[in-house]
Amino acid sequence: MRTDAATLPGASLQVRGGAIEVEFADGQFDLPRQALLDRIMQAACAVSTYYGRFPQRHYRMLIVPMADRKGVLSGTTWGYGGARSRILVGQHTTIADLRTDWIMTHEMVHTAFPTVPRQHHWIEEGIATYVEPLARSWTDDYPAKKVWADLVIGLPKGMPDEGDQGLDHTPTWGRTYWGGAMFCTLADVRIRERTSGKRGLIDALRGILDSSGGIEAEWPLTKALTAGDEATGVPVLEQLYEQMKSSPMDPDLAKLWSRLGVAPKGDGVEFIDTAPDAGIRRSISAAPSDAPEDCMTKRAPESASREIRLPEENGLVDSNNEKTQ
Ligand SMILES: [Zn+2]
Repeated sequence: MRTDAATLPGASLQVRGGAIEVEFADGQFDLPRQALLDRIMQAACAVSTYYGRFPQRHYRMLIVPMADRKGVLSGTTWGYGGARSRILVGQHTTIADLRTDWIMTHEMVHTAFPTVPRQHHWIEEGIATYVEPLARSWTDDYPAKKVWADLVIGLPKGMPDEGDQGLDHTPTWGRTYWGGAMFCTLADVRIRERTSGKRGLIDALRGILDSSGGIEAEWPLTKALTAGDEATGVPVLEQLYEQMKSSPMDPDLAKLWSRLGVAPKGDGVEFIDTAPDAGIRRSISAAPSDAPEDCMTKRAPESASREIRLPEENGLVDSNNEKTQ
């Protein structure tokens, strides 16, 4: 049975803090409309759990069916003209494909940070890369251990290569997505170290959202980082940016995982609770206490995987791509 998307009515989904106006472009899906709406809602719940509310009061999501394709294929998010995303979804997408989708959540995370000049694109993708799996783990949509396993596997892709000029001046795929995620990981650990575990990156990012309103604002990066540091009370973001913006800073990741008690095991990780900073790892993994109650799903996650992400020239574009690089 097929659903003719041209006849599908849009929907308004309500989540704490905002409304999501979903529209469907012409085309067909094998799945019923409700399956897509359920998935959008689950992504919205993950993001709302991270930020304490949905980042935008009004947000539009256009779902575009892609004939003869399968899976959630790519997403693009804009701030001008109102926060909105366009998601390309294959006609033959299954429920299992939707359960392993990272793109919808990733795009919604983009709406929580102000638009910054192009040379700082790494912070936009780094935050989305870091926050998406963590937020999903809090709504039973992604395994908590896999959040750390992904960082162990992913962060080395964000390390500087020969000739690196720092995050602001090295716009490669690895430095943009995983170099940005490295900034976020180091920031989260340092904020928790310097506040005795009372604050984390989550508080900084909530503070930046509160003061900027998110993606519709065009801000210098330093203004956003200052707002984040004011929210935590420690200047970690500004100091880390000074270290990483123009220099190929390469942290000792093996030492970091050892301190946090994250040990590679098979194709995943195991936690070592006697490690000196195991408490910091646990505090990063712990769901915030103000999660929207109606968003706490009970569904067990399927085995989840994420494909590679490719940067594009226009807007914040993210794609699952068959090509490897
Ligand atoms: Zn992105």
